[in-house]
Amino acid sequence: MNDEIRKIFIDYGFDLSNEQTKQFDNYFETLSQWNKKMNLTAIESSRQVYLKHFLDSLMLGRVFDMKSIKLLDVGSGAGFPGIPLKILYPSIELTIVDALKKRITFLEHLCGVLNLDVHLIHGRIEEHAYKAHYDIVTGRAVSSLNILLELCVPFVKKDGYFVAYKSSKYAIEVEDASHAVHTLGVEYRSHFDYEIDHDFRTLLIFNKPLDTPNKYPRRFKKIKSQPL
Ligand code: SAM
Repeated sequence: MNDEIRKIFIDYGFDLSNEQTKQFDNYFETLSQWNKKMNLTAIESSRQVYLKHFLDSLMLGRVFDMKSIKLLDVGSGAGFPGIPLKILYPSIELTIVDALKKRITFLEHLCGVLNLDVHLIHGRIEEHAYKAHYDIVTGRAVSSLNILLELCVPFVKKDGYFVAYKSSKYAIEVEDASHAVHTLGVEYRSHFDYEIDHDFRTLLIFNKPLDTPNKYPRRFKKIKSQPL
């Protein structure tokens, strides 16, 4: 991580230790190597990976106290946002569920390199057993908001939060998701808008005051053919 990037992280409120800086550098190296043989990220320049993946992932830490929480990251792909958050907040109990075996294989290797203790699960989130279990559930670049809500909210414990990482064009998606919000027992609380390197992004924050009816999430075929 060069001095310019390190300073940008500090400007956003993330003052990394030397150990964490080294972990992000090893993350970038491992990602670049594996990206040559499998499709993990379209972004390749180091500046873009550090800012548009690593720093963007960390923004959840601007909204929540991240100490010792149970976090589930759905469809993490190459590890976003879960792995950067685990590097910055090692006391998080992190679970990642991803449907693609090769992405989980990459993450297993990565967690070995970075010496991170993460529950990595290969499978579809609809089949995950731990409903109403996590303090915060995240989803980034996985699907449209109404579908993402059904995939994620059932796993949020009562009074916990679901957070969607989205681009700035979220207003219509939020409107289209009002039925899903109502059905799944969550409330749309707020959005946290930010800009990274001329890219306008937001965190959509939902809290869960009610239980989600047990029939959710449905099978993916049903979720897609009859979205909430
Ligand atoms: N979150 C990462 C990011 O921001 O770069 C990865 C995004 S990638 C475009 C979407 C990932 O979601 C893929 O790795 C895919 O396998 C996973 N995914 C999609 N639907 C899923 C489901 N129902 N259960 C588990 N993983 C899913």
